[in-house]
Amino acid sequence: MKCRITYVFMLLFLSFPIGFASGYALKKIESGDTLGELASRYDVPLDVLMSFNDLDSVTIFPGQMIKIPYIQARGGVAAFAPNPPPLFKRHTLAAGETISGVIQRYGLTVPSLVGANPDLSSLDRLPVGIELLIPPAEGLVVTLQEEETLPDIISRYDIDPITLAKANELYSLSDVSSGMMLFLPGVKPVESLERLARVREMENRYIWPVHGRITSYFGRRNLGLGTSNFHRGIDIAAPYGTLVVASRSGTVSFAGWSSQGYGKLVKIRHPGRAETWYAHNSEILVRPGQFIDQGEVIARIGSTGISTGPHLHFEVHEGNRADDPLSFLR
Ligand SMILES: [Zn+2]
Repeated sequence: MKCRITYVFMLLFLSFPIGFASGYALKKIESGDTLGELASRYDVPLDVLMSFNDLDSVTIFPGQMIKIPYIQARGGVAAFAPNPPPLFKRHTLAAGETISGVIQRYGLTVPSLVGANPDLSSLDRLPVGIELLIPPAEGLVVTLQEEETLPDIISRYDIDPITLAKANELYSLSDVSSGMMLFLPGVKPVESLERLARVREMENRYIWPVHGRITSYFGRRNLGLGTSNFHRGIDIAAPYGTLVVASRSGTVSFAGWSSQGYGKLVKIRHPGRAETWYAHNSEILVRPGQFIDQGEVIARIGSTGISTGPHLHFEVHEGNRADDPLSFLR
């Protein structure tokens, strides 16, 4: 009997740690969890998390209970995460699942998914097990901050009060509390989309300038008759006139005829002294000095210069030498 009382008390304690000055939430470790990832997920410094749990090393094991300190934690603790707005669903990212897969599965768009999850760290490298909110419509989810009121939100996002009230099933202005998630239908997650675009650019520093069959790889190649040379890039075959896009954003440093066999050549300079070269084009669509975004059209496939058929010869220079483009492309 005594044991049972203790058990009930324990449960109460675990359920309502918020009232305790040094409150915490318990998180059961699942396989694949790392302490570093938990620290960043709950926005608790790693050393704080370690000392709070009396850990001398970052080694943890599945089934272990880790205390997530509530005081330091911002951004929500899993067990006590606020309820999502009405009509939202939750989706836990499974192994091998991608954001585009989730978007397709629920008939969403990138902005609508980002609007429901504006604090995502990346669209391409999310950890397995992360929980995503699935919104019923396009819009933005905001978390009401301390001392923030509904009129603040209404004026900041210029949203119709009735729309806001309906989407969140609110019956009065005081029907909210700090930490509550509010759905703002129709509001575009501009800041998050911009941030995630920058993250994507950093994560995928280079993208394919054109898709097609690789007809020649980087490195030494045999030209027959006992001669060989070093191929400084890759050749990607594509139909004449196909659009070529910038592999990475940067400033056009050269756009014109090359006397070295590259034909109509475009070079784009990127941060950190890197440069990409696009050769044998039939038409150049940019001029020197122009800033080009990653993915922006710069030329059309051709066969100018020393070339045996329509293809793009693509080089990546990091520092002063040509590197294998395939080591940068995924
Ligand atoms: Zn080539």
